[in-house]
Amino acid sequence: MHKKLFIPGPTEVAPDVLQKMATPMMGHRSKDASTLQREISDKMKQVFHTVNPILLSTSSGSGLMEGSIRSMTARRVMCFSVGAFGKRWYKMAQANGIEADLVESEFGKPTTAEMVDKALATGKYDVFTVTHNETSTGVMNPVAEIAEVRKKYPDVIWLVDTVSSMAGVKIPVDELGIDVCITSTQKALALPPGLAICSVSPKALEHGKQVKYRGWYLDILELYKYVETKDHQYSATPSLSHMFALHYQLDRILAEGLEKRYARHKEMAEFTRAWAKEHFALFPEEKYASQTLTTITNTRNISVKALNDALGKMGMQISNGYGDLKEKTFRIAHMGELTMADMKEVTSAIEKVLPTL
Ligand SMILES: *Cc1c(COP(=O)(O)O)cnc(C)c1O
Repeated sequence: MHKKLFIPGPTEVAPDVLQKMATPMMGHRSKDASTLQREISDKMKQVFHTVNPILLSTSSGSGLMEGSIRSMTARRVMCFSVGAFGKRWYKMAQANGIEADLVESEFGKPTTAEMVDKALATGKYDVFTVTHNETSTGVMNPVAEIAEVRKKYPDVIWLVDTVSSMAGVKIPVDELGIDVCITSTQKALALPPGLAICSVSPKALEHGKQVKYRGWYLDILELYKYVETKDHQYSATPSLSHMFALHYQLDRILAEGLEKRYARHKEMAEFTRAWAKEHFALFPEEKYASQTLTTITNTRNISVKALNDALGKMGMQISNGYGDLKEKTFRIAHMGELTMADMKEVTSAIEKVLPTL
C-alpha cells in the first residue's frame, strides 16, 4: 500500500507527473532535447525569481552543493551551519581538500546576519555557504537580513542551499544577491529524486575561473559552457525522464500561481505549528520556523517508531528526527503537493493514536 508521505523528501508526486517519467526517450543531442531543456530553464527562472542562467544536473541536490563549493572556492570557504545539511557543505569542502571553516549555531537557532558580518569582515573568505531551510531542525534562516549585510562584501560568492524550500517559499534569488542557488526535485518541487537545479550569477562564473581543479562532471563552469554553447544540452547524458516530468510539473506550478503556492505552504505551516504547540512543542525558535516542514520536540517521550507504525496502518508516514535529534524530535513535512486537508488528516490521525503509544 502506498503511504502518503509527510516526510521532508521524497514528497508526494501527482499521478500525472509520475506518468510523464514514462515518456518515450529522445536523443539527448536532438533539437527537441534542447527545446525541452530551454523551456524548463525559462520556467525555472520564474520559480527562482532570477534572470541568471539555470543549470540542471543529473544528481541529487548534494551533487550541485559539492560541485559549487569545489568550482567556486579559490581561497577559503566559510560554512554556516544550523544542522546536518549545513554541516554537509563543510564535509564536502574537507573531502575536496578545500580550505574551510565552520560556524555552527545551536540546534533550533538560525545563522544570523551578525555571524555572517563578523566572519566576512576578516577578509579570509572568497566564498560562504548558507542553508536556507534546514531540514533537520526545521529552521528557516533569515536570508533577507543576511543579504543586507552581505552587500558590504559584494565580491564574496554566496552559495545557498534551498533544497527543501524552493517552490514552497518565495526565494527572490536576484533581489537577495545569491550567486549559486541550489535545489533538487524531490522536495517542494514534488518530483521523484534524481535531478538537481541551480542558478548561477555572472559574477560566480567569472570567479570560478580562478579555480584550477573544479572536477568535471559537477563543474559549474563546464555545465554552463554547454548550456550556453549547445543550446541547453549537457556534456553527459542527462535524465531525460526527469526533464519530461519537470517540464510538466513546472506548468502545473505556474498554473497554480507562485504566490498562491507560497500562501498554501504558509497556511499548512501555521496550522501544523499551532497543532504542534498544542500537543507537543516546537523545536526551533518560532520566529525561524520553516514554512515547509515542522520539527516537533517529543515532549511526551513517545516512541516515534510506534507512532509511525500506527500511521502506516492508516496509509501515512511522517519522519523521525534527523541524526542526533532522532528520538528527541519528529518531523512533519508540509510541502509540494500536500494541502490543508492532508494536514488535518495526518494531525487528527496522530491525535487518535497518541493515547495508545
Ligand atoms: C534533502 C536536503 C539536502 C540533500 O539533498 P539531496 O537531493 O538528497 O542530495 C540538502 N539540503 C537540504 C536542506 C535538504 O533538505
